[in-house]
Amino acid sequence: ALTTGIVGLPNVGKSTLFNAITQAGAESANYPFCTIDPNVGIVEVPDDRLHKLTEMVQPKKVVPTAFEFTDIAGIVKGASKGEGLGNKFLSHIRQVDAILQVVRCFEDENITHVSGKVDPIDDIEVINLELIFADMETVDKRIVRVEKLAKSKDKEAVAEFSVLVKIKDALLNELPARSVELTPEEKKIVYGLHLLTMKPILYAANVSEEDLLEGGNEHVEKVREYATREHAEVIVICAKIEEEIAELDGDEKKAFLEELGIKEAGLDQLIRASYSLLGLATYFTAGVQEVRAWTFRKGMKAPQCAGIIHTDFERGFIRAEVVAYDDLTAAGNMAAAKEKGKVRLEGKEYEMKDGDVVHFRFNV
Ligand code: GDP
Repeated sequence: ALTTGIVGLPNVGKSTLFNAITQAGAESANYPFCTIDPNVGIVEVPDDRLHKLTEMVQPKKVVPTAFEFTDIAGIVKGASKGEGLGNKFLSHIRQVDAILQVVRCFEDENITHVSGKVDPIDDIEVINLELIFADMETVDKRIVRVEKLAKSKDKEAVAEFSVLVKIKDALLNELPARSVELTPEEKKIVYGLHLLTMKPILYAANVSEEDLLEGGNEHVEKVREYATREHAEVIVICAKIEEEIAELDGDEKKAFLEELGIKEAGLDQLIRASYSLLGLATYFTAGVQEVRAWTFRKGMKAPQCAGIIHTDFERGFIRAEVVAYDDLTAAGNMAAAKEKGKVRLEGKEYEMKDGDVVHFRFNV
């Protein structure tokens, strides 16, 4: 499963946020394919469409789709120099698909800040520089290997060499690899290097309760400016409030958020942002036994999507009966949608869309 790794300097609120994630925790029996690891928190992806489908179908069971967050502790200045913990930290980041950097934007005299004062940009740069240094090492090693071949006019090597040089230029200017404009072919070339600064990033500006209600503070504004330059998104959260929310069930949570005047819990915003960073989408299966949401990657075809439910479904795939969520809800129920001709039969080449309600037909 795809995962977003949570990083941040000490005392910024990482553990508090991760606690909220594990508290909110999804019923793990429903997700046997998810990683079992104390550093991984599995959360249910909030989706109003699932509730609507449940009302329509009245199934015995409802299962939301889930998303994983991984807690990556241990960033310190000098991590890229590869000593002990630092090395481990980098190898953990290498394994995640997107990065969520928690940034301290709250003042609290009782909670020490590692560098003595609250300065979010400074904090962000400490971490990002470590990642840039680590990538520099990866790129340099690769350049040494490829350069000779490139000189002997090996076509692939020439192409790779030119991409590596572009990326190295950016890194030397303390810019992340993701800031380099690359063609799809070039992206494929560097994909195998698993560069840390190529991973999509999202910032969570952690503020006090008061500032959350104000919508932010001056620190948050600085983070926003920084992120805009990087084309990254910023989500304002209060980790402490998220911990409180995580203990509430659906209706209580709604009431609590309303009372605070907040539209959407921070964690839910983080899930949504991770989804979009990773190009994920949701399809539904809706039978009387079970209504369920499933995560897939945009661009996946029907058989691959069937394979998410069970590998047998992919192997024996015949076709998919598909209706768009909007068409189904407009019709009122499945029979009415069929009557209106809104239920399509799709084959192996069908590219699934977000919101598709599907019934797969397959041979066993
Ligand atoms: P970590 O080292 O990044 O994991 O940070 P922790 O989650 O352990 O938080 C460090 C301290 O900051 C703890 O005492 C938290 O209670 C406190 N803290 C975390 N989030 C907030 C917040 O949103 N507002 C305030 N005022 N304190 C927070």
